[in-house]
Amino acid sequence: MSLKWFSESYGRLSNYIDGEYVEADSDRFLESYDPGLGRVIAEVPISSRSDVDVAVSSALEAFRKWSQIPILERMRYLVRLRMLVEEKSGELALMLAQNVGKTVREGRGEVQRTIEAIDSALGLPHLFMSVRKLVNVAGGEPEIDMEMVREPLGVFAIISPFNFPVMIPMWFIPMAVTLGNTVIVKPSELDPVPITYFIKLFKDAGYPDGVVNLVNGDASTSQHLLEHRDVVGVAFVGSSPVAEKIYSAACSKGKRALCQAGAKNPVLLMPDAVPEPSVENIVAGFFDMAGQRCLAPGLLITVGEAYDRFLEMIISKVKRIRVGYQLLETTDTGPLASLRGRQRVVGMIEKALEQGARILLDGRNIKVDEKYSMGFYLGPTILDQVSPEMEIAREEVFGPVMPIVRASSFDEALEIANSGAYGNTGTIYTSSGRYAREFARRMNAGNIAVNMAVAQPNQFFPFPGRKKSFYGVLHGQVDALDFFTDRKVIMQRWW
Ligand code: NAD
Repeated sequence: MSLKWFSESYGRLSNYIDGEYVEADSDRFLESYDPGLGRVIAEVPISSRSDVDVAVSSALEAFRKWSQIPILERMRYLVRLRMLVEEKSGELALMLAQNVGKTVREGRGEVQRTIEAIDSALGLPHLFMSVRKLVNVAGGEPEIDMEMVREPLGVFAIISPFNFPVMIPMWFIPMAVTLGNTVIVKPSELDPVPITYFIKLFKDAGYPDGVVNLVNGDASTSQHLLEHRDVVGVAFVGSSPVAEKIYSAACSKGKRALCQAGAKNPVLLMPDAVPEPSVENIVAGFFDMAGQRCLAPGLLITVGEAYDRFLEMIISKVKRIRVGYQLLETTDTGPLASLRGRQRVVGMIEKALEQGARILLDGRNIKVDEKYSMGFYLGPTILDQVSPEMEIAREEVFGPVMPIVRASSFDEALEIANSGAYGNTGTIYTSSGRYAREFARRMNAGNIAVNMAVAQPNQFFPFPGRKKSFYGVLHGQVDALDFFTDRKVIMQRWW
């Protein structure tokens, strides 16, 4: 594998095991695209059980020494890694844009949040202050001390989705390894190019071989990881059906699991919302990254007169979105990441129309420059007269679609918002403190936003989802210490 970063194509990708790029022991491959050109830019191996075995042995071997190194020393590598990521940020943003289909601006945003994930992990020693020692505690038997220590656990698998191929693994890697574990990343098979290059920065930063590994592959590769005896836990981010499977498979084998999953985020638009900034904000929330964010709004619920007051403004703002090739600075929104994803979204639009929705803006035949005509573009689409029971109102679309449901009151809108199966975020646009407060208290979701379409918390906050949006108890960020270490109680008596 060539080590030059941004390029027109990348050939056959390797795995990264024990500090080296190695070819997968597999004759099964998938194609990874530049979705704006509709052109294959890399071949992705579907790593086999034997590839996973080699990766796990290397990670386990590395764990023996790595877990004994003082945490302050482990953190020094993280500081170097941060500098290297900054140096590579321009090229990395381009690769992210090229392989995912997000714009270069969105690629830069992902790099920035990757750096913030490193910054958050730099605070870990502070959390260790929760460790306690109790002296002379045994009744009637003096000189017995009890102490609780924390220990890293071993090898963790990190299974990630396509939409943030570098940032999401980096939500977990810095925490896991700084706390003394070793990891194996299994990226999405759709766009693994950026993370496959990025992963070597760990070696450049001085991390010992085997601490951070990567195996490319699909669902079968994840399964091999989950079934491996020496993988102690999994951090997963992806869709809800897969999260549910991974969570139960991991738990049934006694492994730790946290699974951040899909979403259908409702947005309540109240008649008293401040017009200009609210509309601009809502439109960006629905259509940036072509709607492929777990925090993107998924359903617009207008309350009372809000429909008449804001609809024309919304339509005219959406019409101005420039859809095009993601590497052009003039593009506001790029293509979808895959042809299959595009077909799925179009299928959902068609089903909604059959069920009685009315299309106000139709992105299905969006025109882009002839050079990009093979790309997976889908223009912004607005669907009106959507009822809360329709699939388009209940299921995650993960595409540039704004379904609109009308409610006559705040209470009715809130009931619709809370009736869904997901609980990632809920948003309200209003200038009333009373409604904002009530919404924040009564909306059943992990992240609440007032006058913000995308409730993206800072990296050191948890990323809580409820209902089908999160499986597990502990979160990879704020609960990193509990998730990536185990407690041990040591009792001592010295005669
Ligand atoms: P996905 O569930 O299809 O795939 C995620 C990962 O799981 C990939 O690495 C894939 O190879 C693997 N996988 C797929 N099927 C599997 C199976 N049966 N067994 C084991 N592994 C399997 O998700 P995606 O399409 O890549 O990503 C989009 C989804 O991710 C959306 O639902 C989105 O909401 C969600 N997401 C959630 C968050 C969050 O923090 N809650 C963040 C980003 C994305």
